[in-house]
Amino acid sequence: MDLIVYFLNELRQKALIKYNLGIKTVIKVNLKGSRLIGQCVKDGKKSYIIRLHTELLKKFRERYIKDVLTHEFAHAVQMELFAKSKPHGREWKSIMESLNDAPYKKSNIDYCLKNGRALKTYRYKCDCHEYLITSIRHNKIVYGTSIYKCKKCGQVLKLSQ
Ligand SMILES: [Zn+2]
Ligand SMILES: [Zn+2]
Repeated sequence: MDLIVYFLNELRQKALIKYNLGIKTVIKVNLKGSRLIGQCVKDGKKSYIIRLHTELLKKFRERYIKDVLTHEFAHAVQMELFAKSKPHGREWKSIMESLNDAPYKKSNIDYCLKNGRALKTYRYKCDCHEYLITSIRHNKIVYGTSIYKCKKCGQVLKLSQ
């Protein structure tokens, strides 16, 4: 929970400095199953509940907190500033950029849930297609014990940036 509090404080500081926006958040680590990896729900005036996934948090810790907490917190800022904007539209992306102090980039890690079990996957691509590769295969590629080629164009797959 300490790590969550730490990241949450950073995000709240940024919202305050960049948007002059004070947001109250309650964190609940109670998501289970394979439907949601994180959720942000409005809970009154400038107050939000952010729900995190028990299994994914246990397994991916800091990486998950950074990715998913920022993502959900950006929804809270978005709901305050642009109540009628699309969930992952232009406004949300610009908030993500400002919270991350970096250009918006889709994470190349996906948190994949199968029957409630957490699997990490990576985006790989060639010129014609994008693939999701499990962490087991990804590690083989990183350590040079395997290469994977596109079945259509024959190109060696590269990690998507
Ligand atoms: Zn979202
Ligand atoms: Zn291809």
